Amino acid sequence: MSTLLVSVAVPVPLYRTFDYRVPPALAPMLRRGSRVRVPFGRRSLVGIVVQPPHEGGADGTEFRDIEAVLDSTPLLGAELLALCEWAAAYYAHPLGEVLMAALPGRLRQGAPGELERRERYALTAAGHTALTTLPARYRALRALLERVHAGVCAREELQTTAGVLRRAVERGWIEVQTDESAALPGVPGPAPTDEQHAALAALAAAGGRFGVHLVEGVTGSGKTEIYLRRIEAVLEAGAQALVLAPEISLTPQLETRFCERLGDGVCSFHSALPEHEREQVWLQARAGVARVVIGTRSAVWLPFAQLGLIVVDEEHDTSYKQQDGFRYSARDVAILRAQKLGIPVLLGSATPSLETVHNARTGRYHHVRLERRVRDTPPPQVRVLDVRGLPLEHGLSPPLVQAIDRHLDAGGQVLLFLNRRGYAPVLLCHACGWSAPCAHCDAHMTLHRGRDLLICHHCGAQQRVPRACPSCGATALIAVGTGTERIEQALANRFPQHRVVRLDSDRITSARALHRQLAEIREGCARILVGTQILAKGHDFPNLSLVGIVSADQALYGSDFRAIERMGQLVTQVAGRAGRAGQPGEVWLQTHEPGHPLLRLLVEQGYAALCDALLVEREQAGLPPYTHLALLRAEARAPALPLRFLHAARPLFTGQPGVEVFEPLPAGMERRGGYTRAQLLLRAHRRAALQRALAAAVPRLDTLADARRVRWSIDVDPYDL
Ligand code: ADP
Ligand code: ZN
Ligand code: ZN
Repeated sequence: MSTLLVSVAVPVPLYRTFDYRVPPALAPMLRRGSRVRVPFGRRSLVGIVVQPPHEGGADGTEFRDIEAVLDSTPLLGAELLALCEWAAAYYAHPLGEVLMAALPGRLRQGAPGELERRERYALTAAGHTALTTLPARYRALRALLERVHAGVCAREELQTTAGVLRRAVERGWIEVQTDESAALPGVPGPAPTDEQHAALAALAAAGGRFGVHLVEGVTGSGKTEIYLRRIEAVLEAGAQALVLAPEISLTPQLETRFCERLGDGVCSFHSALPEHEREQVWLQARAGVARVVIGTRSAVWLPFAQLGLIVVDEEHDTSYKQQDGFRYSARDVAILRAQKLGIPVLLGSATPSLETVHNARTGRYHHVRLERRVRDTPPPQVRVLDVRGLPLEHGLSPPLVQAIDRHLDAGGQVLLFLNRRGYAPVLLCHACGWSAPCAHCDAHMTLHRGRDLLICHHCGAQQRVPRACPSCGATALIAVGTGTERIEQALANRFPQHRVVRLDSDRITSARALHRQLAEIREGCARILVGTQILAKGHDFPNLSLVGIVSADQALYGSDFRAIERMGQLVTQVAGRAGRAGQPGEVWLQTHEPGHPLLRLLVEQGYAALCDALLVEREQAGLPPYTHLALLRAEARAPALPLRFLHAARPLFTGQPGVEVFEPLPAGMERRGGYTRAQLLLRAHRRAALQRALAAAVPRLDTLADARRVRWSIDVDPYDL
């Protein structure tokens, strides 16, 4: 006798779905995208129905019953579910885990998805009067009025009881506005410049159909204004817009600008938000209440009711790639989502990735260029500073220090960029050569002098800085190399009359801390800034006249095939910060290899010329964007296991047509966090061939003898090898 079954994706690392029996009475409620609670082994899990009730089970297999239906209407809509299914196939990742990545925490655990009405509170004229006349003994009422007066408008921040609130409302002191009554309009933007006008005309001509548009322009050229205009058009048509941005909790001015321009219905979505708020934004996107969402990587999975446009700002940014677990690229998922929806996607950057440049050159992407800065600051002068043979003090050469002095004297601000936190990357014993190795990684621990710690930047291990060498007992321990903390100290000593501000992830632990420092920088109190990538991102320092890049050498000698592309992006982005109204800024780049052809190309001819050269190199080396790569990674505590597993896995891939399978190799940093790591590289000239190979082989990896003894994962389009 046949039974009624549903197929359910459950959050387990297995490449299959599971069938459960449905009582006929429940069958009408179950559709694709519904959440159900099901027994799994001895556990009970929340899963998503991927195949609605169907007849089956005639072969006598035993099925278990679903335990509960959690949604009366499917929580995941057809569009999002299909997107997740595509992503699971493309990234060769278990569907159940992909689906759970698309849900906020509590919904993942089965909580009901209830959209709260958003209410806002405002003081009426009578309320203002009451604030001054109400006797002090009405303490709770007074406190409430004061809060609302101070601008608090969300229910949970009122910190009062329902009774007190009701009394204030009944007396007409406080007015309650709901979503419908309180739609704030935005303010109109500036008239577009000629360049913006041309760009907007081109984008408008492409219409609301699918198309990828690269909006290329230096910082300050007016890209964000282009996004805002296109979003306005989408909102007018009644649709929603998604804006992906890297690390928006660190760039609050972006959100502020969107809110001011577009009015109500602009939400942000990122990991720094409280869980409850993330869930509400998720539900608001689904209900169409959130008209524009600005979010980081994971926002690409939001369940929009009617998405009309996706913007990926700083599309080259590496934070779009998730580097563990389900390793996806939010930029690439965004493009695919736009394609499936038949809507346009804008990729914005001053320094587009080579993949995107390649796609624009071959005509797959439309290319819109903004050549000039709106405020018409001339482009900075970049010069290479040959530091060979120069006495470096804490990493700084005399000519650079003189330039800093000159710019400070002239009233400018100075920024020193270095992609390395801490005081020094190595602490060395002068007597025996001990160099503070991490016990868990093939790496040195970084000296953090201010906190008196040695910290491994790869596994997080920490220890007190030893007073004497643990190996030989000598006390001559030398800090070798330079980090941001060291530069900060050196400059504070050299220029005691000026305030030095350091911005890196050691210093900046919250959006508020960053906000405070940035305000100080903008007001001009801090004249010297030292920092890491945090500084390269969209902050505007109007008084900045000199940028010093402490070292370009790391990238030039790096083994990573994207190292020079990334250096070109970084130098260009950081340099884009320099220059004051009408005055070109200066950028100084310290290096021991001033003749490096790619460095010269970047400095003399700019980022586009560097891209040309790098694309030729990539083609010759058979690297992306000319080929497609995937990595099978494996790690284990037992040193021999990962390679043994990969050797056993290799034959599963070698039989696949159109795919080149390399020999398994130890990873770049072989030991990390106590695990030994190895990888197997796959390469194909056609993406489809790679996809077929992954689909055929990856689900079989689990059958290998060592599969349970190693942690393995697939990385499609890996960022580094
Ligand atoms: P980007 O995103 O390329 O860095 P923005 O859109 O942020 O550039 O523009 C840079 C600055 O110029 C911002 O302060 C912005 O408000 C201003 N701006 C942009 N477009 C115009 C315009 N058409 N007229 C006047 N100011 C503009
Ligand atoms: Zn020693
Ligand atoms: Zn370590």
